[in-house]
Amino acid sequence: MNKLAIAGGLPVRDAAQNPWPKWPVWDQAEETGLLQVLSSGVWSYNGPKEVEFNQAYADFIGSKYCISAANGTVTLQLALEACGIGLGDEVIVPGLTWQATAAAVLDVNARPVFADVDRRTWCIDPQDVRAKISPATKAIIPVHLYGCMADMDSILAIAKEHALFVIEDCAHKHGGEWKEQKAGAIGDIGSFSFQLSKLLTAGEGGALTTSSAELWEKLDALRNCGRRPEQGGEEQDKGAGVYDDDGNFIQSGNYRLTDFQAALLLEGLRRLPQQNALREENAAYMNSLLQQIPGVEPMFHDARETQKVFFNYSFRYNSAEFDGLPADTFRRALMAELGCHIESCYEPLNDCSLYRPHTKPARHKLSEDYWRQIDPDTARLPVCEKVFKEQAVCFHHLVLMADKSGMEQIAQAIGKIRTNVAELILQPEVV
Ligand SMILES: *Cc1c(COP(=O)(O)O)cnc(C)c1O
Repeated sequence: MNKLAIAGGLPVRDAAQNPWPKWPVWDQAEETGLLQVLSSGVWSYNGPKEVEFNQAYADFIGSKYCISAANGTVTLQLALEACGIGLGDEVIVPGLTWQATAAAVLDVNARPVFADVDRRTWCIDPQDVRAKISPATKAIIPVHLYGCMADMDSILAIAKEHALFVIEDCAHKHGGEWKEQKAGAIGDIGSFSFQLSKLLTAGEGGALTTSSAELWEKLDALRNCGRRPEQGGEEQDKGAGVYDDDGNFIQSGNYRLTDFQAALLLEGLRRLPQQNALREENAAYMNSLLQQIPGVEPMFHDARETQKVFFNYSFRYNSAEFDGLPADTFRRALMAELGCHIESCYEPLNDCSLYRPHTKPARHKLSEDYWRQIDPDTARLPVCEKVFKEQAVCFHHLVLMADKSGMEQIAQAIGKIRTNVAELILQPEVV
C-alpha cells in the first residue's frame, strides 16, 4: 500500500507535478543590470558595477575592503600569496572540504596538512589543528562547511599563539555570523565563491575580504597583473607601488572578473538576506521534524553562531536504526521519494577523486621530496571518513527555499523508509 518509490511505489512528492524551487533566482533586475553593462561598453576591469559591488559586499560582510576575482579557487591562492606563503611552508586545512581548499595550497607550492573535523559540525577540529602544527606552519584555512561554522574562537586563539594567518574559506557562508561577526571578517582574509551552486552567484566569480590595508593592497595587485590598486583613499599616498617583503614589485597574472558578473552579484546581494532568512527558518523547522525520527540527527549548532547560513541542508544518518541499511541506499531511496538530488558530503581529501596532488610534481617538474611531503595517503582522517561513508545526507539549499510542506515531505519520506526498511533490505537488486 505504502510501497517505497525506489521499489516502484508512489513517491511522497511528485516533483514533476510539484517541482522544487529553481536555482539560480533572477528577474527583470538582472536583465536590466546586464543590459546596462552591455551598452556601457565597460565590460571589465574595475567597471562601475564591480566598484559598486566591492563596496556593497565589504559593507555587508563588515570588512574594510572587498576585492572581487575570477572564482573562489584563485581567491584562496591569492590570499595565500598575499600572506607570503610558498615553498617549504605548511597550511592546515580540514580533510573534509571541496578540493580547492587544498589545491590552492599546492598552487603556491606549499604543503597542505589535513586536520580532521568535529563530528558534530563537520568543520575543522581545533584540537587536531593543534596536533598538526609544526615549525613550518604558516596559516590555517577553516572552512565554514555547509550549514555550520568552524569554531573561530579556538582557531583564532591557536593562530595567535603560533603567529599564523587565518584565511576563512567562506564559499558556503555568505552572511553567516559567529558572535555577531560575519564569516570573512573574523580571520585575516575571507575567501568567497560565486560559482553557480553558491548562495550568491554570477555563474562564476569570487571575492576576498579583509580589513588590513597592507593585505588589501597586495591582494588587489595580485589579481590584476601586479598593478597597484586604482582606488583606496589613504593608500593612494603610500608610494610607488606594491611590494613584496623583499621590496620587489609583485609579479602576477589576471584574476579579474567581468562587469557582467558584478551586475548579477549586485542584484543577488539585494536578495541574499531574505533568502538566508527563509533557509534558516526552514532548516530550523526541518531539524525540529527530524528530532522526532530515530536514526537521523540534525547538525549541531554552536550558540556562538549568531546567524546560521545554509549552503546545503545536511543531517547525520545512523544505519543501526534502519536495520543496517547502508547510507547510500538510504539516500537513493530518499531521492526516489522526493525527486531532488541528495548526496553524501565531499570525499575526504586523503582519498578524493579530484584531489590528486601527485600529478603536480611531474607536471611542474618539482622534486620527489615535495611529492613525499604532499602525499595525501599519509593523512589519518577517521571522522571525515566515517561521515562520508556512513553518515552524511546532504541536500542542496534550494530545498530550503520551498514552503513548509516541502520540509514535512522530507520528514515523511524518511519515516516511510524507516517503516518499510525490512522490505527494502529483502530486495538485493535495490540494495
Ligand atoms: C566552491 C568552493 C570553492 C571554490 O570556488 P570556485 O568558485 O568554484 O572556484 C572553495 N572552497 C569551497 C569550500 C567551495 O565549496
